[in-house]
Amino acid sequence: MSTHRLERLNRWIKWSLLVVLLALAALAALYFYQGGWDRMRNSRTLARLLPSHFFSGPQVAIISGHRGFDSGAMCKDGLMEALVNEEIATRVVASLREEGVSAMLFNEYDPRLQGLHARALVSIHADSCIEQSGFKVASAEATVIPEEDQLLVSCLREKYSEATGLAFRSTAITKDMTQYHAFQRVADDTPGAIIETGYLGGDRDLLVNEPDKVARAIAAGVICFLDKQDELLKTPSPTGYSSGK
Ligand SMILES: [Zn+2]
Repeated sequence: MSTHRLERLNRWIKWSLLVVLLALAALAALYFYQGGWDRMRNSRTLARLLPSHFFSGPQVAIISGHRGFDSGAMCKDGLMEALVNEEIATRVVASLREEGVSAMLFNEYDPRLQGLHARALVSIHADSCIEQSGFKVASAEATVIPEEDQLLVSCLREKYSEATGLAFRSTAITKDMTQYHAFQRVADDTPGAIIETGYLGGDRDLLVNEPDKVARAIAAGVICFLDKQDELLKTPSPTGYSSGK
């Protein structure tokens, strides 16, 4: 081959490489432009593989009710709501992590809640030590994302009653729940719910002796919400909404 032909071949290879690189860069830019980055951040498969600090914050925030503040409801024999909540909340975080969701545990008045952006906030409490049975789930009365809040509540409600067999007590939902302080602390676009897992009196056996069952039920509710949100993001409809990060 002559030097001239070699030079031409060389130049051709260089140009081809450049064109291929530019095409790849354009594809990558398109991917990120179309929400690829959010999909990557929200990917449960990736979360299992990567260290949790890859994510700037938790996808899901779990508040262990009364932790770091007070005892919460108390039974005559000394059973404390705060400790019951903590047994459950730490297990919820662990089971979410097993499912590849980056979850983090928060105290009741955790300063990190201020302006927190997360895909979901769930606060875990239990009801007083009376001989009654049933659970409650509520979201903020004042919210800019009612559909997302409602979806989180309905997922928790459905999965929790399914797994624990407890009855949902909609009539017992109080202002303490709908005006819960943490709803006001986190960012406006963070969907939030508070769950009263049962009564320390009538549901004591379940709450104290089966914290794994209770925690898995709550984690299933959170996963149901995340999955449904992902579906809505994939298939935008007139009634759908964006996750609005
Ligand atoms: Zn409480």
